[in-house]
Amino acid sequence: MSLSINGRTRVFGIFGWPVEHTFSPMMHNSAFNRLGLDCVYVPFPVDPDLLGKAVEGIRSMGLSGVNVTIPHKSTVIKYLDEVSPEAKLIGAVNTIVNKNGFLTGYNTDAMGFVKSLKLDGGSDPAGKRVMILGAGGAARAVTIQLAVSGIKELTIASPVAEEITSLAETITGSLNIPVKGLIWDKQAITDCFEETDILINATPLGMHPNTEEMPPVEVGLLAEHTLVCDLIYNPGETLLLRKAAERGLKTLNGIGMLLYQGAIAFELWTGQEPPVEIMRDALQRALAK
Ligand code: NAP
Repeated sequence: MSLSINGRTRVFGIFGWPVEHTFSPMMHNSAFNRLGLDCVYVPFPVDPDLLGKAVEGIRSMGLSGVNVTIPHKSTVIKYLDEVSPEAKLIGAVNTIVNKNGFLTGYNTDAMGFVKSLKLDGGSDPAGKRVMILGAGGAARAVTIQLAVSGIKELTIASPVAEEITSLAETITGSLNIPVKGLIWDKQAITDCFEETDILINATPLGMHPNTEEMPPVEVGLLAEHTLVCDLIYNPGETLLLRKAAERGLKTLNGIGMLLYQGAIAFELWTGQEPPVEIMRDALQRALAK
């Protein structure tokens, strides 16, 4: 990669704590380089106690835009001038656009999953029946965006009843989609398989290094039309996805969500069509290290 920083270079970055493991600089700098844009993307370790000052720094130092990652996605909202309606419902922002000091927050994680579902999974969520396993931050983002995209109904299975209630209230209350909550039990989950078009694992079960774990899903009993998704991107094929693929079911891993959240942020910042295959290649090279 050739970098040539000068007085006009637009600066982008990511706020996280810690931030060492981020793949975003590789993705965005490869994309800037490919399109010949005078832009650079750098990681910023932002102590949670100093987040407000860091956001003020976006304005005072003229950063063009930043991504926001753990643990700042929810707390950052109070420092922004405007937040997209979806990000407001989700309660989390991962992308900030700076237009002359006016900061707008978006949630491109959620949009990224839906884009990956359509483009990589070949499935339009409109009219589909979705079951999500887990009700944490990623589950909340994904299901709210799916509800906005017109799914028919949602089933949420999680060991944490309060998380189910909070997510179900947002989805039925604001988006008028029927929601069923399930206890975290293999039989209860299996009983809903016939009504499931898209199954999504949004728990960390199966994530590196615990690759022999998986959620309590009897893969042999899933309906043949079910698309099985995992938000985990490391490993690229979790035990859940491997079992589903062995059964001949269609599968989708979390790499597309990671890729498209970056691609959508890139477009919001630059107004240019993102070079998605260059970004995918950079991401895959970074993941392989
Ligand atoms: P989170 O907020 O911690 O939520 C995880 C959910 O899984 C919670 O409902 C949690 O319940 C549940 N859970 C955790 N451990 C469990 C276990 N042993 N058994 C059953 N349920 C369990 O995490 P998150 O940020 O939503 O992330 C969830 C997954 O999505 C992670 O694997 C993450 O890597 C992935 N992700 C992928 C992308 C992407 O771009 N592809 C983006 C974001 C996240 P508790 O509250 O009880 O822990």
